[in-house]
Amino acid sequence: QRFEDFGLSTEMLNALSKKGFEEPSEIQKLVVPELLKERTHLIGQAQTGTGKTAAFGIPILETIDADKTVRALILAPTRELANQVSDEIYSLKGEKDIKVLAVYGGASIENQIKRLKAGVDIVVGTPGRVMDLMRKKVLKVDNLDYFVLDEADEMLNMGFLEDIEAILEKTNDEKKMLFFSATIPKAIMAIAKRFMPEHKLLKV
Ligand code: AMP
Repeated sequence: QRFEDFGLSTEMLNALSKKGFEEPSEIQKLVVPELLKERTHLIGQAQTGTGKTAAFGIPILETIDADKTVRALILAPTRELANQVSDEIYSLKGEKDIKVLAVYGGASIENQIKRLKAGVDIVVGTPGRVMDLMRKKVLKVDNLDYFVLDEADEMLNMGFLEDIEAILEKTNDEKKMLFFSATIPKAIMAIAKRFMPEHKLLKV
């Protein structure tokens, strides 16, 4: 399987070649076609370094309705990871008119508010700051095409379960949910079953 076989846009193929991605990684071969064709929820079991960010980033960039309302919310456990994920997605968007914003504590909330008010399509954030921005009504999560939990096991280890649940409660029903995790402990299965009773498990 090559990137050309996935039916990707020219903009995406150009962005991929600019990044030097010659062929899809294993997790990308599993996840990208799956997300492009169906409305299934997914759990992707993959370690960092396997290309999992692009595995969800490519289909999100290819399919969201980029109308400058938040269409994809990606939760990550740390500010470093939120930055890493948003940088990777930004570099994959190429020529597309899609706005990506990372939000996390310890950085000016005023700037993040300004950016959100100006219109953002994809938000990557840590749970605490995401909740702050939701409370301030500048971050709306009720119009999502995608909800992604990145490093889900790490998020639970860090005690984010309640925050994740509180955020999920406010999201709209019609969205694809993707959980990515290096390991799938019972607590992940429990939250997955609760919020996405039907899902596919893909692992590398
Ligand atoms: P990740 O697992 O998402 O943190 O990605 C690990 C690293 O692999 C990042 O530097 C990506 O840019 C890179 N990467 C992701 N997919 C590919 C690919 N298909 N070919 C080459 N490098 C890739």
